[in-house]
Order: sequence, then C-alpha cells, then structure tokens
Amino acid sequence: MTLGSVGAPFGLIGHEDVLRDLRGFRGHAVLLVGPARVGKRLLARTWAAMLNCSGPDRSGLAAPCGVCPSCVAVLRETHPDLLEVEPKATTSTGKTARRRLIPVSVVTARRDDGREYERHVVEWLETSATHRRKVVVIDGAEFLGEESANALLKVVEEPPHRAVFVFLTEDAHAVLPTIASRAARMRVPPVSDALVRDVLQRLGETDADLLVFAAGRPGVIVERERARAALTDAREFVSALDTGMLSALEGAEALEKRFDPQWHPEALRFVLRDRGPDARSRADDALEAALAALERYVSPSLVFQVLALDLRAALRTS
Ligand SMILES: [Zn+2]
Repeated sequence: MTLGSVGAPFGLIGHEDVLRDLRGFRGHAVLLVGPARVGKRLLARTWAAMLNCSGPDRSGLAAPCGVCPSCVAVLRETHPDLLEVEPKATTSTGKTARRRLIPVSVVTARRDDGREYERHVVEWLETSATHRRKVVVIDGAEFLGEESANALLKVVEEPPHRAVFVFLTEDAHAVLPTIASRAARMRVPPVSDALVRDVLQRLGETDADLLVFAAGRPGVIVERERARAALTDAREFVSALDTGMLSALEGAEALEKRFDPQWHPEALRFVLRDRGPDARSRADDALEAALAALERYVSPSLVFQVLALDLRAALRTS
C-alpha cells in the first residue's frame, strides 16, 4: 500500500472520526476492527506518525504534519519506532496456500531458533524510542495463536517505555480473549460510496465495477490495479466455465497461474453476485472447498480442475 498517494493525510480516505478517537486515546493497546482493505493499517500508521510527529503546532494537530523527520520516516516505511507484524503464509507451494499465522518466533528472539526474524517484538521494546513512542502494529490479530499471544502478554499489559500496541482484525470474535480483553476496541467501518466515487473520479477511474467492488473500502482504491486484475481474471474464468468443459479446464489452468488468495476468491464471488441464490451458495461451497484443499497442500492443478467442475455444476443450478 503506497502511503500518501491518494487521500490526505497520509493517504487516509475518510475515517477522520476514528483518527480523532485514536488521537484522544490514552491507553496503550487498541484493537481496530473492520473489514479487509477498509484502511486499518493506514490508520495505525497515521496514528504512529501522530504520536511521533515533531511538526509545528503539535497541540492543535488533527493529523501528522507529513514533513518532519519522523513523519517522513513513516512515509518511507523506515521509521525506527514502528514495528509492523503480519501473519506469515505457511506454504510449501509458494503463492497458492492461504493458511496464515503469526509465529511465536517473531514475538520473541528466545523462540526464534532458526533466526528467521531480524526484529522481535519483546526484545525490540526493550530499548527506548528514537523519536517519542514505539508503536507495534499486529495486522491480523486473529492469527495470533495461544503460544504467540502468551509470549506477548507481558509487554501488552505493561509496555516498556510507554509503547503502544495496535491490533488489527477483521473479526474481533476470532481474536484470543487474552489479547482482545486487554485492548480498547474501535470499529473501522466502510466509508461512504460518495467518498469512494469522488476519489475514483479524481483518479480518472471509469470502471464502474470498482466502486461496487470497493464497497466503501479505501484499500481497494489504493490497490486498484490488483483489484482490477483480479476482477478481469474472475470474469474470464466464469466466462470460460459457461462456455464448455474444455474451456473451463483451460480457464482453471489460467486462474491457477494467477491466483492470489487475497484477491481472487472475493473477485469470483463478486462476479457471481447476480446469479441465483442456490447457484451462489453452491459456488461458495466449491470455493471454500478449494481454498481448504490448498491449505492442505493438495496439488494446486488438481484443486483448480475440481473447482472448475464444481463451479460449472453450481452455476447450472439456477
Ligand atoms: Zn510530523
């Protein structure tokens, strides 16, 4: 995600109210809850910038200045006081598997036997901030297992040097209570379609589907190239399914090559949204089964072939 490329400040589109709440927040752990690509990570970074901004008139600041050394470092993604942790895909096949978790080896160096990570949350917090406050962003808090959550517990309860934690999740109920109960919960809702439409217009975007697909999630605008590509792939695949068995299998092969579990399942559901409810429900089952099979490292080419056949059957339902 490129900061500062679309909206202001720091690339934020909407969410001024959440930023205001963060600005007034005096605790040391917050859980931002909102759909994928709604802009949680950007909010976390903007807050980190705000906590460390040394720009003029800090007292009246509604947003970080964007030009002081600290803000510039956040924009360049090189800030010494900002540590971002995200789940790692555990995969043997490269790009296709989607099982994700935040391993305990990134939480503490004591559990990182393979020296996999350069920085570890617990040890990183032992030294004081270069600017003002250290900020740890855990993107995908629902992927913290018992082991990782327990290893984090002490620093979350009493962060050294007044550090703050920002946990991000799509589903607050999926976050372990040990973490969720120690963080203040803030909702990050989708922004209005009018705002998304306005930004898309300013960007010269004409693809009407992009507005509907975004559904108020600014992250889709920021990553609109990928969104558009996934939508194109999904449309081509569905059209191949409708054409015939041979083209369906060819379509499956093409999709397998380009498949990104972060984008394509959603794009497929979107493209199929105008089919009948039964067809959509069966298509959804087929998609879930395919994703689960990829997690179990079933041969990807087999998974996509089966997906194509199941989807063809599903789409004939209605
Ligand atoms: Zn600044």
